[in-house]
Amino acid sequence: MPRLDDSATERSAVHLATLAVHAGGAPDPGTGAVAPPIHLSTTFEHPADVALLDGYIYQRYSNPTQDRLETALAAIESPDAPAQALFFATGMAAVAAIIATLRPGQRVLLADDTYFAARTLMRVESERIGFRCQQVDFTDVDATQLAFAEPVNLVWAETPSNPLLKVTDIAHLARLARASGARLVVDATFATPVLLQPLALGADVVMHSATKYLAGHSDCMGGALVMRDEDFYRTLYEVRKLHGATASPFAAWLTLRGLRTLLPRLHWQCRSAHHVAQMLVPHPSVAKVHFPGLPDHPQHQVAKAQMRDAGAMLSFEVRADSASAARARAIAVAQRLKLFTNATSLGSVESLVEHRQSSEGPTSTTPAGLLRLSIGLEAVEDLIADLTQALEA
Ligand SMILES: *Cc1c(COP(=O)(O)O)cnc(C)c1O
Repeated sequence: MPRLDDSATERSAVHLATLAVHAGGAPDPGTGAVAPPIHLSTTFEHPADVALLDGYIYQRYSNPTQDRLETALAAIESPDAPAQALFFATGMAAVAAIIATLRPGQRVLLADDTYFAARTLMRVESERIGFRCQQVDFTDVDATQLAFAEPVNLVWAETPSNPLLKVTDIAHLARLARASGARLVVDATFATPVLLQPLALGADVVMHSATKYLAGHSDCMGGALVMRDEDFYRTLYEVRKLHGATASPFAAWLTLRGLRTLLPRLHWQCRSAHHVAQMLVPHPSVAKVHFPGLPDHPQHQVAKAQMRDAGAMLSFEVRADSASAARARAIAVAQRLKLFTNATSLGSVESLVEHRQSSEGPTSTTPAGLLRLSIGLEAVEDLIADLTQALEA
């Protein structure tokens, strides 16, 4: 039997749904166990002359459970070309690893609606290391073109973005980045490899907070970087090893387990998100719905062209006369919801709601009346009934 986790040629012959179930899943050679073992050992026996070793040394460098996950991540993210994945303790550890490769005087273009903590770390590190970081609205064609007038080293995009669900045209941005010799990293946490494959569109690295959809059950943290460039992989591997940003084998195991059901979860959640968006649009208490699946979303055509579906994240703004009234009303709606738990994070089996401005704090640029929804696996009729009562009370 050919193993699905072997060569790229074998991989490309099967569908993503099949890869998600089988990649990295060869039975344990020692026991035949079908479910992957969790190897908790921090250290591995090696020859007295360590230089002769072809295997594991120490858990922080690499370990068998993490290897299975990384094989699966690379296969799912890049089914048609060889790629390599690195798993990290958190999504932010993956962001920090990329930033650790930057040098003084370099120039970074950062999406203006980047995940709040990533934006904050980029600002703090730009001051410490001495690289220049410019925020750009990549959905604005002219502003994006202009930003490339000067040399660029790194482009950091996030699509769909958090929390405004802006969609960036990856192929277009990749062409601009390539022409200027810059590396393009895409945070595709909201989209997952099921809906968007940035490497095939020309991105150099795809980043995920595996804490969200990949692991998918609000019980495990992780981050991932997937790329095709061997040299950059070696660099990032060393960063992870020396910074100690390695995840626990149990986190790798839970994430691998999450990947097995990623496709059916996303399929169900995307369908529900469409229904929720359609219910919110005409609602008299709702001023605006941010969801790339709606025909009047500013980047709907880009989303249709580059994504398999619009995703299961959406946000909406309540109707109010002033920012302070909008804030109060949004918070009241969030409080009245019964099935949507008030909590940060996303991409899990349960639906969540969050008032982003208050969670982002005083420097937030998110509209005061905005609530972000992560659509879970509940019956959509129940979610709609819950939103209806919360908006109408
Ligand atoms: C959560 C998140 C991150 C950070 O990941 P952690 O696992 O929380 O460290 C980065 N980007 C996006 C889009 C996220 O949603």
